[in-house]
Amino acid sequence: MLAPYAVSDAESRGRCYPEATPRYRGEFQRDRDRIVHCSAFRRLEYKTQVFVNHEGDMFRTRLTHSIEVAQIGRSIARVLGINEDLVEAISLAHDLGHTPFGHAGQDALNECMRDHGGFEHNLQSLRVVNELEQRYAEFPGLNLTFETREGILKHCTLKHAGELGELGERFLHQQQPSLEAQVANVADEIAYNNHDVDDGLRAGLITLEQLDEVALFLEHHRQVQDLFPQLNGRRTSYEVVRRMINSLVVDLVETSQMQLAEYEPVDVAAVRASPEPLVRFSGGMKEKNRQLKRFLRQNMYRHYRVHRMTAKARRIIRALFDEFMGDPALLPAETQATLQQSEQEGGSIGRARSVADYIAGMTDRFAIAEYERLFNPRIT
Ligand code: MG
Repeated sequence: MLAPYAVSDAESRGRCYPEATPRYRGEFQRDRDRIVHCSAFRRLEYKTQVFVNHEGDMFRTRLTHSIEVAQIGRSIARVLGINEDLVEAISLAHDLGHTPFGHAGQDALNECMRDHGGFEHNLQSLRVVNELEQRYAEFPGLNLTFETREGILKHCTLKHAGELGELGERFLHQQQPSLEAQVANVADEIAYNNHDVDDGLRAGLITLEQLDEVALFLEHHRQVQDLFPQLNGRRTSYEVVRRMINSLVVDLVETSQMQLAEYEPVDVAAVRASPEPLVRFSGGMKEKNRQLKRFLRQNMYRHYRVHRMTAKARRIIRALFDEFMGDPALLPAETQATLQQSEQEGGSIGRARSVADYIAGMTDRFAIAEYERLFNPRIT
């Protein structure tokens, strides 16, 4: 049973290309199923956030990250009485537009696209589901519902918002997205901060002792040490991370329940009109979460081993972009055809967008192999 402030199938603003109602599933289940079957989703297995995919089989990939986000999001959705299927669809789709090599790749591609409209992974996820996936006879893209697409577009500049039609409206009018989109957004943050701690420990980039300067970590680390003094390092860190995730989720649920009780949104329109997001952490937890993020930024994302990898990633993306921009005949035939068409429509900006789409779609290992094929004379 859905709460009155949940998004329901009946009230969905629908799809760009109208379709018959699915027979044995809901609209948002159908969205989720289309996402799971698309090729951008499968490629998430070989894309990373912080580490490069081939660095080790133990680390998160964007695929396992997306599954973790969906798991956390669904748990929260169920307690709040909102639409689990929609949260799951948004969670599984939220990273579809990510470039190879995580944030380094996104920054590099944005830099390459500086004079051609820029590159933003969030907008790219939307491009993937709106047009780049070509698999249905009757429409381009996946033809997802408004609510799923709205959730994918987490943030957006006012300039872009003006060009995005109905999806951009909430940014122009400073409205909130659905509660389901709010939940998927925070679930993403909970998932990546915590798995970066876990992966960072495993990779030896950070240590338990260092992490003790983070209040949220220290609290749970002490608890675990008191309860299980004999536990080894690896299991200790799992246990601490698990408890951190749980405390964040519990705080988020309880704070959001209080917000909902206070604001009493009667429907989705009331959720959208609320001045602040209703899904949020308490003040204390927000600060602890901020401290954790700051720690990761300073100690992990700027670690020399991570930096060495991201510097390499940046060079690869830049080289691929320049090479394809300068000589599109190096591209596979199908991509050349798309590029020619978009160049006819949009000139050099159209050409650059096609090149960016092609590079963004690559997995880490494909980007490295393509770089080798282009620059290593011994490889064909
Ligand atoms: Mg994410």
